[in-house]
Amino acid sequence: MSVVNPLSSRRSKEYNRIFKGAAVLTTFAALYIVTSSNGSTTVKAKSSIKGLYNSSGNDCFLNSVLQALASQSSLIQFLHLRSSSSTLYAALLNFLESLNSGSSKPISANSFLNVLERITNKVILRSLQQDAHEFLQFLLEIIESQYSSFPSNPYSSSIRIMGFPAQLPFIGTILQTVQCSSCSAKTCTNFKNTTLQLSLPYAYGASSISLSQLFASNAFEQIDDYKCDACYPNTKKTTSCYRTVQWKHPPTLLQIQLERSCYTPLGLSRNNTAVLYEKSFLLQGRYRYHLRSLITHHGGANSGHYICYRKKDNSWWSANDTLISKCPIEKVLDQHRLVFMLFYEMESPSELD
Ligand SMILES: [Zn+2]
Repeated sequence: MSVVNPLSSRRSKEYNRIFKGAAVLTTFAALYIVTSSNGSTTVKAKSSIKGLYNSSGNDCFLNSVLQALASQSSLIQFLHLRSSSSTLYAALLNFLESLNSGSSKPISANSFLNVLERITNKVILRSLQQDAHEFLQFLLEIIESQYSSFPSNPYSSSIRIMGFPAQLPFIGTILQTVQCSSCSAKTCTNFKNTTLQLSLPYAYGASSISLSQLFASNAFEQIDDYKCDACYPNTKKTTSCYRTVQWKHPPTLLQIQLERSCYTPLGLSRNNTAVLYEKSFLLQGRYRYHLRSLITHHGGANSGHYICYRKKDNSWWSANDTLISKCPIEKVLDQHRLVFMLFYEMESPSELD
């Protein structure tokens, strides 16, 4: 059995990195070192969701991701439709539904992780400190690879989840356009995208930026030294070009990662720019999204702890390993300098939110 550290999986990061990185920021795979939580198992009142044991002392990276996924009804409904075709889907569905059943007692993710490790023939290292986003990518790649290995679709395209076609809810398509600044020739390419990775402007002190400003700044860049197919064969000179990206088919489940680690002249640093996000927003003027969960990272560039905030029915909960507590929406929306991942779901035609 081979051993894999999800942090070392650069491939997934590059694969999904469609939006540009800001010039002043360099990111890398092994971002965050994660320390244990306080280990307490006290839960004050009966909650709508279950807490998760942090048995290795480093498990907050996977606990926070699994809690965040448990609030994605499009994912749960997708797993319902497909669970008879995949042991992994059935195990994940069973685990997420268990997380969503109210109880004062925490549970362990071990049984699900055992299935995940057996199916992938890999070991998720929990003795080391890990990155939540890398774990999410690792899990989604396996879900996707199983989906693409299914024999021809037993369901007709008329089957829908929350009004959307019954496909992987976290996959979208991005249209990239590159235009030569000299002759205006355009090249268009489609990319599949799983997680939107957004670079933050470098922050000294108190700067802040809204999510919509981040979308805009990450969706456009000027590139120098461009070999235009139309100009270059004649002139043998490079030009500059403008690269823009936009969603061609946005995903039902929009996952956003904020790149908070960066290199500075002083070495590895954490970018503490405040990111302002809302409980719902309109994407590209057409697609309404609602916040379902988010993951915060507490600590510096080299150490820290992850906590999930998630919606269940009409309430918000803070899920900090075994500690579950009800949380006002104002607090959920006030994690500006700590927020690390955001999970939004597209409003379905039937939604009355
Ligand atoms: Zn040109």
